[in-house]
Formats: sequence, structure tokens, C-alpha cells
Amino acid sequence: MNYLEQSKEVFLHAYGRYDITMDHGKGVYLYDVNGKKYLDFYSGIGVNSFGHAYPLYVEKMQEQLTKVMHVSNYFNTVVSIDAAKVVCETIGMDKIFFTNSGTEATEGALKLARKYYYLKHQKTDSEIISFHQSFHGRSTGALRLTGNEGYQKAFGPLIDGVHHAILNDIESVKTLINERTCAIILEPVQGEGGLTVCKKEFILELRQLCTDHDIVFIFDEVQSGMGRTGTIMTYKQFDITPDIVCMAKGLGAGFPVGAFAANGAIADALQPGDHGTTYGGNPMAGMAVKTVFEILEKENLVEHVALIGKYLEQELNKLVEKYDCIVERRGLGLMQGLVFDHPVGDYIKKAQAKGLIFVSAGANVIRLLPPFIIEEAHVDQFVSILEEIMKEA
Ligand SMILES: *Cc1c(COP(=O)(O)O)cnc(C)c1O
Repeated sequence: MNYLEQSKEVFLHAYGRYDITMDHGKGVYLYDVNGKKYLDFYSGIGVNSFGHAYPLYVEKMQEQLTKVMHVSNYFNTVVSIDAAKVVCETIGMDKIFFTNSGTEATEGALKLARKYYYLKHQKTDSEIISFHQSFHGRSTGALRLTGNEGYQKAFGPLIDGVHHAILNDIESVKTLINERTCAIILEPVQGEGGLTVCKKEFILELRQLCTDHDIVFIFDEVQSGMGRTGTIMTYKQFDITPDIVCMAKGLGAGFPVGAFAANGAIADALQPGDHGTTYGGNPMAGMAVKTVFEILEKENLVEHVALIGKYLEQELNKLVEKYDCIVERRGLGLMQGLVFDHPVGDYIKKAQAKGLIFVSAGANVIRLLPPFIIEEAHVDQFVSILEEIMKEA
């Protein structure tokens, strides 16, 4: 039995996996069990910001592994306090709660916003506004926020009080707001939903609406955060500060860690006993987060993302000009989508055969989430392989 067959026997069939079994990675490349080399333009869904086996990261994690892995949140460790400080200071938030995943980050944000509403009104009838085509995770709370009915259909009843508005359409939000609205949650760049970028005007209007009505403004930057779009958080490009921010993916750059961070009175709404996690933010996660920020700063990597992201954008724009079947380019920094007028599933498999990895966002959009350490030559390699495939098709 090959590995794909073995995996089908042993894993729940929640995934349609590719017939590639990875062995190890180095820099921007992954190697499968047969020794075949792949240029990684996916980074395990935008997680591995520094590619694979980044030396300083490996060194620091090994050091922490031999020191202490886990103590629970009833005790402090210096490394986890350091991690919390560096995140809060860098992204401009007062307080943070570490989770194990992005889903738990949005779930926590949801609870925090509801608690804040409860403290004001002593009522549990709050409502939340989310957006169509959004993605916030797969637990029954986060899944309800996710604006994709296909993902939800079989799993009801989900939580109550969630309404979906249309992205970049402020009127669609206004019609949903009432005195029970406790939060608005949005991805500044929709990851799963096809790389649509929020308009600055729209974000500014939402910020104002939230301030005027004391609604908690939640940014889900699980995918778009931690430098991926060319600033440490995408909201920096909109010159606003959200009330709660959700993070994961690039926050640990490979080690599973997420977080939700909050500002002002909202940050103080949770009291002991209100929320918890066994693993969340343990010393290993703390070291991962701390090291991520250390590497970002040491290597000026966020600036590099902005520059190399511009180059990628420019090369993708050329493809849009050149090929009628490519409708448009969407995205920011190293979070880019190429929208085709037909399904792209075939391209993904053909690219794999040629040693290139990317995936889709929906049927027609090629999604690119390369590691931050790519150079122009890697972009050129991606473009030439994609063009080869398109010519063959
Ligand atoms: C991936 C993702 C999540 C869920 O994160 P998990 O770590 O898979 O639970 C939530 N929101 C956004 C925007 C994401 O991209």
C-alpha cells in the first residue's frame, strides 16, 4: 500500500489529500519521500513564514525543549511573558490570550465580545455581524461566523445571533446593526474566500460605526497578520486599531499557537474562570512566538515582504495582461490570488508534477502564500512553471 492509501485507511476522510508524502524541508523547498524537490509557494497555508528549518528558529526551539515544555497557565514562565509583551507592543494591543489555533482565537474573541456586552447589559441576547465568503474556523461558534454555507450545512444547530453582511458594502452592515449588535468580525484580506482586500474607506466607516455604537471591532488576522501583507498587521495599512485581533498561522511560523489580543476596557472583560486552555501559550509556544518576532526584526523581513510582494504583484499583473483567461489579481504583499475564468484544480496537480506547490481559494482562484524569505528568482521560477502549464493546457 502506498502512503496515500495508508492515510485513507487511518485518517478520517475530512481531507482530499494529494498523492505526495513530504519528508523534510529546507528554506523555500520541500522534499518528498522520494527525494523530489518542490518550490513551496504555500507555506503550509501561510504558516511557515521563514520557510523550513530556519537555523535560529531550530536552535531556540531545541533550547526550550530541553529546558521546559509545559507548565499550564496556572504558573508563569519568563519566555511566555516575553512573548506576550513583544506581541502586544509590536501590534499595539494591551493584553493577550494565547490559544492553540486560529479557530480558538476567533472562538475566544467571540466570547470576549459577548462578555463585554453582558457586563454592559446583563443580557445574553447579543448578535454578531460577519461577512459572506469569510473564514473564521471550524468549531461550531467559529463555523457559524464563517460565511460559507457549504461548510455549515450538516452541522447545525450552530450558535444563534450571527448575521452576514457583504464585504465592502457599508449599507449591508448598517441594515444589520441594532442595539443587540455586540461585535463585527472581519478579515482585512479574505484568505479562503478568494483574496478579496477590504477597501480603506470601508474599514474606516466600520471603525466609526463600531466606535459610535460601542460595538467590538474584531480583526481576524489569522492568515493576513504577522507581516504577511507587508506590515506587521494589515490594519496598520488602514491607520486604525481594532478592539480585538485574532492571530495564528504566522504567529508561531510552524509551531501551533494562536492568540486573541484586546484593547482598553474590552481587554478587562474576562475574569478568572471565564476562559481557559491547557496548552495555550506554553513555554514552547512562547519561545516560538518570541523567536518569530526576533527573526522578523533581525532580518527586516516585514520590509522584505513589502518589497518582494510588490515584485510578485507586478509579475502577476503581467500575467493578467497577457492571458485572457486570467480575470484579475487580488491580494496584498505575499498573500496573493490569481482569478481565472475556469477551475484551477488541474493546474495545482500539474504544478506539483513540475516541482511547484500552490493551492486554490475556491474553484477559480490560485492562492499564493510563499515564505517571506523568497527572492525575485523564486517568483520568476513560479511564473515560468505556471506559464508552461498554461501553454500545455
Ligand atoms: C486558518 C484560519 C482560521 C482558522 O485557523 P486554524 O488554526 O485552522 O484553526 C481562522 N481565520 C482565518 C482568517 C484563517 O485563515
